[in-house]
Amino acid sequence: MNQLLRQDLNKVDAFLQEVKDYSVSFLSGLDALPVKAASATFERLELPRKGMGAKNALLQFRERYGRHLAGNSGPRNWGFVTGGATVPAIAGDWLTAVFDMNAADKDTAPLQIETETIAMLRQLFGLPDAFSGCFVTGATMANFAGLAIARQWLGNQLGVDVAQEGMAALANARIISCIPHSSTVKSLAMLGFGRNAILKLSSLPEREAIDIDVLEAYLKAHKGTPLIVVASAGTVNTVDFDDLAAIARLKETYGFWLHIDAAFGAFAACVPAYRHLLNGWEAADSITIDAHKWLNVPYDAAMIFTRHPQLQLDTFKNAGAAYLGDPAKDFKYSNYTPENSRRLRALPAWYSLVAYGADVYADIVNNNIQLARQLGTLIEENDAFRLLAPVRLCVVCFTLNVADEEKQAATDALLKVLDDGGKVMLTSTVYQGVPAIRAALVNWRTTAQDLAIVWEEIKQQVATLMVK
Ligand SMILES: *Cc1c(COP(=O)(O)O)cnc(C)c1O
Repeated sequence: MNQLLRQDLNKVDAFLQEVKDYSVSFLSGLDALPVKAASATFERLELPRKGMGAKNALLQFRERYGRHLAGNSGPRNWGFVTGGATVPAIAGDWLTAVFDMNAADKDTAPLQIETETIAMLRQLFGLPDAFSGCFVTGATMANFAGLAIARQWLGNQLGVDVAQEGMAALANARIISCIPHSSTVKSLAMLGFGRNAILKLSSLPEREAIDIDVLEAYLKAHKGTPLIVVASAGTVNTVDFDDLAAIARLKETYGFWLHIDAAFGAFAACVPAYRHLLNGWEAADSITIDAHKWLNVPYDAAMIFTRHPQLQLDTFKNAGAAYLGDPAKDFKYSNYTPENSRRLRALPAWYSLVAYGADVYADIVNNNIQLARQLGTLIEENDAFRLLAPVRLCVVCFTLNVADEEKQAATDALLKVLDDGGKVMLTSTVYQGVPAIRAALVNWRTTAQDLAIVWEEIKQQVATLMVK
């Protein structure tokens, strides 16, 4: 063994202590860090001929990047839909690297851990046992996987095995939706349907939910044509839900494939008062749920739930190599997901679920919803702002009460000063043609005190901007 490798191996105890100390100091200062890092440019390091060893590399990292790390996982990152990481989830992620096991193998502990975690998640969300699930890297890949299985089903309806024969038979396929997440459209690009395959039907007035009558009329007009419907269980602007129960009833008559993107809206199932938003979702063929958002595990985790293991195997089996065994006989996750070799990405979720159970997750979700609703009320009652949609779950969508032609510049200016202030991060959007701002609360650390800090900051920055 090379001398440097030997030296680090011998000092693994002392070195990991240092990494632990650094981690603890970062996490204990998280609340005070600017939420969004200031942009910075760095002179690029060259590949060293002689390395410096683990300890010096850590020092080098701290020196180069330590001051530039933002509080991305802190309590006031309300941009996009950004979760944090619970303490046991961080431990699970660390240990995933320590064990470095391949969650592709059959009959192993990683397989058992993933299966057990999926079962716990089914319980958390109240999903029927008929759904099997797999971990993938994020909700984009969950949408990709769900739509890949849907594609296989679509081919089957036309007598074609798409996984074997390719897309030719599906050249004119249409995917029906209303307000799909951009990652659904990206998935259609990756799957060979093409971005143009999406057909966006109209929403109800003042809503981001599909008009069921319009959907039914479309289905009637295309009776006999196999179709994929992508429903939203939580849009990113206003967390609007398609009427899943009504869509489930239409499915009984028209027999389409129903994929539900419930990336973060699925967590409504954790709180009895909001569960009804998901009524009917058990009729879905595939469901996307993100883990690195409201489950609060580190990045690189989401689940695809499906009720069609055979179609899933037909889609993703890694067959044809003698050393891999028979995909039909030996259950392995790698035959059901896009990846072959896979990190044990169920482990952070396993730790967090075992540590906290359903009650703590209900508290996290309910707390975020209540704080979002309070922010919505503060905004509604203040003349400087206009709330653009009711706060249905964890997102507040609002704009500034200025003339229409000034809205874009005013919202941009506010977001810029908030970013620079570092106390909170919000993101811009356009809602029904109106330049707007969103606050999305899905972090376990967020408290009423954070809401007070953010509200003071927003009011103060708006007042300063108005004077200018
Ligand atoms: C975030 C999100 C996605 C994409 O998730 P990634 O984890 O970023 O890949 C898909 N759909 C919805 C509704 C989302 O909120």
